[in-house]
Amino acid sequence: MVTTEEIGGVGLFASLDPTQREQLSRAAADVSLVAGEYAAHEREEPALFAVLEGRIEPVRLVDGIERVLGERQPGDVFGEVPIVLGTVFPVGFRAAEASRVMRIEAPDYHALAAVVPDVAKEVGRLAAHRMGGSRGLQGLAAEPPPPRAIVVGHRWDASCSELRRFLDRNQVTFKWFTPDTPDAAERWGGSLPPEADLPAIRVVDGKTVIRPRLRRVAELLGLGTEPLAAEYDVVVVGAGPAGLAAAVYGASEGLKTIVVEREAPGGQAGASARIENYLGFPSGVSGYELASRALQQARRLGAEILVTRSILRLDTATRQLHLDGGDILRARTIILACGVAWRSLAIDGFDRLAGKGISYGAARSEARNAHGLDIHIVGAGNSAGQAAMFFSTHARSVTILCRGDRLDKSMSRYLVDQIATRPNIRTRVRTVVAAVHGDASLEAIDVHNSGTGKTTRLESGGLFIFIGADAETSWLPPDIALDHDGFVLTGSDMRATGRWRLDRDPYLLETSVPGIFACGDVRYGPVKRVAAAVGEGSMAIAFVHQYLRDAGGPDGKPRAEPAAEGSVRQRPVAALGD
Ligand SMILES: Cc1cc2nc3c(=O)[nH]c(=O)nc-3n(C[C@H](O)[C@H](O)[C@H](O)COP(=O)(O)OP(=O)(O)OC[C@H]3O[C@@H](n4cnc5c(N)ncnc54)[C@H](O)[C@@H]3O)c2cc1C
Repeated sequence: MVTTEEIGGVGLFASLDPTQREQLSRAAADVSLVAGEYAAHEREEPALFAVLEGRIEPVRLVDGIERVLGERQPGDVFGEVPIVLGTVFPVGFRAAEASRVMRIEAPDYHALAAVVPDVAKEVGRLAAHRMGGSRGLQGLAAEPPPPRAIVVGHRWDASCSELRRFLDRNQVTFKWFTPDTPDAAERWGGSLPPEADLPAIRVVDGKTVIRPRLRRVAELLGLGTEPLAAEYDVVVVGAGPAGLAAAVYGASEGLKTIVVEREAPGGQAGASARIENYLGFPSGVSGYELASRALQQARRLGAEILVTRSILRLDTATRQLHLDGGDILRARTIILACGVAWRSLAIDGFDRLAGKGISYGAARSEARNAHGLDIHIVGAGNSAGQAAMFFSTHARSVTILCRGDRLDKSMSRYLVDQIATRPNIRTRVRTVVAAVHGDASLEAIDVHNSGTGKTTRLESGGLFIFIGADAETSWLPPDIALDHDGFVLTGSDMRATGRWRLDRDPYLLETSVPGIFACGDVRYGPVKRVAAAVGEGSMAIAFVHQYLRDAGGPDGKPRAEPAAEGSVRQRPVAALGD
């Protein structure tokens, strides 16, 4: 408990009378921190703190890298900005050494401030001081985060687009310019690499790589690519919303957890311009931000996250997962959260122009390529609608190509209404893409109207395809039961196939192999949404605990359980898309 003497030692509270100090002593929490532990995390709810012992440093994450912004000594307070403005903490506060702080909850602070106006005045003065000036929050906000990488490459070079998309998806700030930019050499900091070596990337410490493989880029930027251990309690395949939720719950509940992600965290949600229906974000949240927050949270809680690594093979008998590059991970339990992959359009010229004006899905990094152009979106689901809204603030015009006769048959009402308010978005119904044209990049498309039977050529600065997705399960062994569209069967759907061998019932998210679970879009089920994926990812961890407890032998390891044999193909799934 914080004593009245200690309270008196904090300058802010020096004017309190003995009764007020006594009251504060009863209300304040006495928090001991080991070095590295946080008193308050970035974005935490408001509270006021005073340092009693040790040293506390404000820390902000910029591009996943921690930046220390100062320090607080015994007698100093922190949290004055959120408590005055009623906002979340703009930066985190971490113990630089073993420390002790007192924490006053917002209602207790306001009760005190109401009876001792001097405290309120002083906290207000401190908050104003922290917000203003070049070293305050105002200065921090004005300071652009230094780019972690510089990229030079051509606009319509597919590998340059892939590189930019990869950096963006991994939340790495970078500057990109084309080699014909007038001050290109100055921006690059020397003569540019020869044309044949583009794209090239230079990372913050000056290392430069030409025509880089994404794995190499990840290594240079310190994104995890190699597993730290050989065996884990849980190996999660895929870092979309389901995989990240499993990582957060797994790591926070003491399981040794690793997530292996083929590309970058966020999955499909990372490509979503604005998710309007995710609980707790009244004005919507971009998939990028949701993924970035989830990634930070999973890492903070101790989950290991590998990027640019794919699981190529799963041996259910030994519980070994084979990664590309030859590494093998042993898992006590496995969570399949590998989602779905975009369906491609089988039209002549598509593959040649993919990444050169034609994209599956939409990444934030494409926005610059769409500036002032007329672009086209194929599809009429919510993902197509969100992309249309996103590009309408960058492109001159956005045309949605809808195969059916109405958008609202497949798109949520709120999106149809939002689209109606944007004068530069138009919809062509009963229309499909018949051909694409362009040499170095996409220049025009032919669209066919099934109502009139006419084919029209339209100039196009970008074509974005949103026509649904298929389960990512071709790599799974046959003893994991799938429906005949390739989605993983779990729980009672799986049991109905007759492939379950144990006396106990399978858990809701358990596959035909005990201890292997599936969640999110890859799982057989009609709901394909972020909230469902997140919910299932967290539920999967609850089943992992039950499985480990029930199956645990004396050494706590699961006993060998018979696996289902042969692949199962069941009834088709009506996947709703998003
Ligand atoms: C453009 C767009 C907009 C959307 N908008 C909304 C919306 O507004 N609201 C909503 O609720 N839902 C929306 N959705 C749907 C939502 O994003 C998905 O339901 C959700 O992302 C599913 O999460 P998941 O984790 O199951 O799978 P995914 O998001 O598909 O993630 C799976 C991950 O696994 C990785 N992976 C696959 N195979 C392997 C392997 N073998 N090894 C390693 N990694 C692998 C993939 O690279 C991927 O990152 C949208 C989807 C899109 C595409």
